[in-house]
Amino acid sequence: MSSLSTLSLSSGAVDFVDDGRLEELLRAARPDAARVRDVIAKSLSKTALSVEETATLINAGDPDLREEILAAARRLKRDVYGNRIVLFAPLYVGNDCVNDCLYCAFRRSNRDEVRRTLSHAEIRTQVEALENRGHKRLILVFGEHPRYSADFICDCIQTVYSVKVGHGEIRRVNINAAPQDIAGYGRIKQARIGTYQVFQETYHHATYAAMHPHHTRKGHYLYRLDALSRAQEAGIDDVGIGALFGLYDWRFETLGLVAHALHLQERYGAGPHTVSFPRVRPAAGVHLSDRYFVSDDDFKRLVAILRLAVPYTGLILTAREPPAVRRELLAFGVSQIDAGTRIELGGYTEAGDAQCMEREQFELGDIRSLDEVLRELIVDGYIPSFCTACYRLGRTGEHFMEFAIPGFIKRFCTPNALSTALEYLVDYASPETRAAGEKLIAAEVAKLEDRPLKQELLDRLRRIRETEERDLYF
Ligand code: SF4
Ligand code: SF4
Repeated sequence: MSSLSTLSLSSGAVDFVDDGRLEELLRAARPDAARVRDVIAKSLSKTALSVEETATLINAGDPDLREEILAAARRLKRDVYGNRIVLFAPLYVGNDCVNDCLYCAFRRSNRDEVRRTLSHAEIRTQVEALENRGHKRLILVFGEHPRYSADFICDCIQTVYSVKVGHGEIRRVNINAAPQDIAGYGRIKQARIGTYQVFQETYHHATYAAMHPHHTRKGHYLYRLDALSRAQEAGIDDVGIGALFGLYDWRFETLGLVAHALHLQERYGAGPHTVSFPRVRPAAGVHLSDRYFVSDDDFKRLVAILRLAVPYTGLILTAREPPAVRRELLAFGVSQIDAGTRIELGGYTEAGDAQCMEREQFELGDIRSLDEVLRELIVDGYIPSFCTACYRLGRTGEHFMEFAIPGFIKRFCTPNALSTALEYLVDYASPETRAAGEKLIAAEVAKLEDRPLKQELLDRLRRIRETEERDLYF
């Protein structure tokens, strides 16, 4: 174990989470309706909320006001993201871990867990399977272990990008791995990563200490809190934050996430690209108190409040959640989901219909195929998107551009969503999904008002249907 003094931090690293202040905000009297509506109006003008304003939404107790918050989140989502949902898949590379997080099946004291690190040949096999199902965006997931060094992560990324099967290719690789030092992030940046995710898990100091034994590397609260500041200082301006809901009061964690987003925005001029809000799930050998488990109703509220608090930040809802919850929550602000997910090591080729708890980090709630999930999205009126255009064209700060530049969604996001959706329909979809998707595409194209853009898009869609041309983006 390294002591904190030997772990390097970002310049001016600071613990910006003041537990006493956040608890005080949550103990405040219920705000009156006018105050809540002012905060909602600010958010609807696409301005990020302060921690105090977010607490106002959390403290709104009147059922009608809570409905107004949900309605505002729906509206903001439509305004900022349109009806697109971006799809990705996680690929677990290795589950060795030096940490002992109480909520995780991969923790080192769990002797029953089957430990495995995929070889490069095995990574290739998994990526081929994912490409053959139609995936274009992956997130690679690693435990925390010396063998998963920055160089190892870079090699894995190169392997993923090198796999091409038919029209299949991975166009964006995101990373969920241990916090790095600045030099490590710098090396990973060179390997063409998309987003680097580090979740704080819980922002509440005492809970953090209880969940992460102090003699483990993850036991250093500040080192982890500072992880994405170091990433920024190494040039990775695309980072993802997250909290594991169910360890402590969801209201506190929501404020912690907002404080973190604001800290990154203030210090580096760019907030996080994404926020994740997984709920604790059953996991092999894990026995947590259910005191802070989040009900479905509270979960819906927290997603809506996050949507309003960080209007320009992507919200990720994963397959931890069961299909019905996922379906309902999409409307309240979620912009990215995974689909066709398996999280056993090697699971995309080796797992059967049932999940194997000794081989995965937690139990999934949704193991439907990508095709099934995509069809449901289409039926519900969403455009499934595999777009990776901005990142590859060097249009950085994409989330900010969506928010800041009028017409960006119409000019770029929607056409790219339609062309990547069509690639999926032509190359991988079941007949039923293709039929539903073609109808949706026709309806969405008909809505486009920009005639030259519409003509160009129609030509691209024709080429995707009739030729081998792919990856046509604006
Ligand atoms: Fe290791 Fe991550 Fe699991 Fe903690 S949550 S034990 S760091 S894999
Ligand atoms: Fe994201 Fe850019 Fe594609 Fe829009 S065009 S979906 S901002 S990558």
